[in-house]
Amino acid sequence: MKAINPLLDKILIPIVLGFLIPIATVVGSKFSTGDWLVWFSNVPIWIWIVIGALITAWIIVIAIRRRISKLREDDHSPIQIISMPDGGWAEAGKIGYAGVYWIVLAPKNPWYELEPKRITARDLDMDTPPRCPKCETEIEQSKSFWGGYVWKCVRCDFQKRNRDSYYREKERALKVVKREWEIKYTPKR
Ligand SMILES: [Zn+2]
Repeated sequence: MKAINPLLDKILIPIVLGFLIPIATVVGSKFSTGDWLVWFSNVPIWIWIVIGALITAWIIVIAIRRRISKLREDDHSPIQIISMPDGGWAEAGKIGYAGVYWIVLAPKNPWYELEPKRITARDLDMDTPPRCPKCETEIEQSKSFWGGYVWKCVRCDFQKRNRDSYYREKERALKVVKREWEIKYTPKR
């Protein structure tokens, strides 16, 4: 509730003013002339239009400012807990997903293991940020004002809008990769 209140105040003020001005006009008219509508009809129509426009502009400015501050709040990348395998990661391949490239990582065999361990789908991970589909540079992500994200390459002119962040898309791409790995490397019984 606390977060909503300042916003409500800011929106309520123009709305209340929007009602108060005509009410004050009508009441003032009644007291000074005895008729409810004398003042009201004396006020030229353009004044009402200007008042209406000012109130509308006020509400729009508040809505935009609120949207911008929300975008700033959300702009943190999620904390990722990456466990490093004993032998480190090796690049196991590259896949295209959500219009960009993703580097697939597989654990390297630790130097002390003489017999290479079989890598299962569960061992796989993926690198973020993903890579540009044109030049393979790491993608830069920013939030779009109207919702969703913009992915940009800093090296070439590649640009793409995406509904979800690349952290989210990474989880999806990884599911695809794991399944494909299972199909390819699970021994047939
Ligand atoms: Zn590029």
